[in-house]
Amino acid sequence: MQSDLVAALDIGGTKIAGALVDGRGRMLLRVQRPTPAREGAETVMGAVEEVLAELAASPLWPDAGAVGIGSAGPVDASAGRVSPVNVPGWRGYPLVERVRRATGGLPVQLVGDGVAMTAAEHWRGAARGYDNALCMVVSTGVGGGLVLDGRLHTGPTGNAGHIGHISVDLDGDPCPCGSRGCVERIASGPNIARRALDNGWRPGPDGDATAAAVAASARAGDPIATASFERAARALAAGIAATATLVEIDIAVIGGGVAGAGDVLFAPLRRALRDYATLSFVQRLKVAPALTGGDAGLLGAAAAAAPARRGPHAVTFSG
Ligand SMILES: [Zn+2]
Repeated sequence: MQSDLVAALDIGGTKIAGALVDGRGRMLLRVQRPTPAREGAETVMGAVEEVLAELAASPLWPDAGAVGIGSAGPVDASAGRVSPVNVPGWRGYPLVERVRRATGGLPVQLVGDGVAMTAAEHWRGAARGYDNALCMVVSTGVGGGLVLDGRLHTGPTGNAGHIGHISVDLDGDPCPCGSRGCVERIASGPNIARRALDNGWRPGPDGDATAAAVAASARAGDPIATASFERAARALAAGIAATATLVEIDIAVIGGGVAGAGDVLFAPLRRALRDYATLSFVQRLKVAPALTGGDAGLLGAAAAAAPARRGPHAVTFSG
């Protein structure tokens, strides 16, 4: 198994995680540091280097044949650069080159976090066994990625499958991305909570006004909370149906904190799909909750790195 070993990095606005991952998706060593997100570029890179140094101190390290990085976006995988929204010190930061140098020249594969989650779900999660899948993270934002014809479809810059910024409401609210009526603007956790509050929902005695609290109210039968989730579900359904109609996917996998609402989200989502996914070739589309949870970033980074080690045409994993 050790010859299948890769190093994985999961870089987000709050933490930088690293792992040594074998060919069956087992994490043999895990390391984590907080992201010094408000610091300068070199301080943030210093935290990445600390994670790599801790991995490199393992007796397993000499067997690691490649490094995979899943990073908060936007990323430019073709240029090896990242500009994570929540890490202002990194704008067009040459992360791939810096990691290559820090690891003595190992091949480095960079993907965005939505693509990483998709790779993880295709390898070890709910999209396993499906050749055509859309995987999504619905939390503070809405991200995603695509598996087409059995392969991860990253697009030239590593951002393909960015379903959160498909517009599903032509004249809808302005989105921070510059467009209008995006899936994220309607279906992200903060937008579910905001809409419920705007329509008169009030948090309980604990003051929790997150989407999770709105989900709890919906579960208890609150009509305003239920309506906010139904609106989010319709936006997701319209985006999923558009994707399925364009590229013929068999399954949509949904993870992230908002998916934790369970049937409060999935029941209206499945109903809404019947309204939007209407043509014969998309009617059998399945929807499933993600399975890889908090490991998705590291597993996906490892999955993305494996082809780099094995050559460009090897995309299968043992399992
Ligand atoms: Zn947008």
